[in-house]
Amino acid sequence: MTLTGQLYKLQQLDLELQRKQQELSEVEHQLSDNKALVVAESKLASHKEQLEDVRRKQKSSEWELEDLQEKVRQIDSKLYSGTSKDPKELVNLEKEVKGLKSQIRPKEDALLGLMSQVEEIEANVKTTIEEIERLKREWEQRQVTFGQRKSEIEALLARLKRDRGVLAQQLDSEALNTYERIRLTRGQAVVKVERGKCQGCHIAVPTSQWQKAKAGDLIQCNSCNRILYLG
Ligand SMILES: [Zn+2]
Repeated sequence: MTLTGQLYKLQQLDLELQRKQQELSEVEHQLSDNKALVVAESKLASHKEQLEDVRRKQKSSEWELEDLQEKVRQIDSKLYSGTSKDPKELVNLEKEVKGLKSQIRPKEDALLGLMSQVEEIEANVKTTIEEIERLKREWEQRQVTFGQRKSEIEALLARLKRDRGVLAQQLDSEALNTYERIRLTRGQAVVKVERGKCQGCHIAVPTSQWQKAKAGDLIQCNSCNRILYLG
């Protein structure tokens, strides 16, 4: 293989290494990404907090209602037991019981409202728990799938690095330095010449250079400095 052929092969290995590194970081991201689960868990926590709050309100509303009903019962029994004969007192008691009774209906409505809120939040809690279970299953599945993919890529990367090391050792050190230097600034250091043009900058390559490059000499493009390869 010519020198430029070796450099071209080195570049292919480098590009493949880059792609695999990129793939590896994507896979690692997939393995660690649990944003959806974190969001669902915080949603559950807030639903539970809400539920506790509304249940507390429901309890105190029930107590208030029982209290009212108890007061009404007591006054009613006073009214109808005949223990009080004082008409003025009876009128006052009737007024009082009427007032209390008028408070009962709105309290009952409020209680019903709270009860339906509790039901609604309980349904939300249930849905969110199901969602969390599903996300956990997906997470576990992802760990298996992407865990396997990760090992595959790592093995591939190790092989590519080894191959690259072997090839780099065979290469003339000056040529290797030139390659590395151009790679740093240009990304791609070795480019093909097609229809007489450098494929890095698309400017025509002089025939004399073209011929030398064809023979395998390390020739750099006059305009973009890249190494010309005619495979
Ligand atoms: Zn060029």
